[in-house]
Amino acid sequence: MAMKPFAVDQRQRELRQRSYLAVPTLGKQFPKVEEISIELRFIDPDKKLHLSPYKRIFANGMQAFFDFQCPIKECTGGGFNPTSEITKALGKSTAVHKGTMICGGKRDRGDAGKSCELELQYQVVAVEKQHADS
Ligand SMILES: [Zn+2]
Repeated sequence: MAMKPFAVDQRQRELRQRSYLAVPTLGKQFPKVEEISIELRFIDPDKKLHLSPYKRIFANGMQAFFDFQCPIKECTGGGFNPTSEITKALGKSTAVHKGTMICGGKRDRGDAGKSCELELQYQVVAVEKQHADS
């Protein structure tokens, strides 16, 4: 029976949920920011897969936790969590911030090995509040 993968999956989900709840909301951490949008693009190291870019919006009442799954279904244990990079960048300034990350998950890439190594290129745009809270 496939009980083990489920249990592992469950534990990972709980861990993620706990770290998610541990971070303050966007509004608490960055009082000047109304919302931020993060654009995500993915570069396949083998140039075989074409993964669609997408955008995520975080309103200031949401947790400042930026965790994205690896878009490749076969990838296990992967994903991207640039939370600390983004938090650091937004703490300094609300200018557009760009960064890259490599997926540390596992998937079969034939001759190229078993590590995913999908590259994420992200761009963070912060929208500042127009007025003070009324
Ligand atoms: Zn991956």
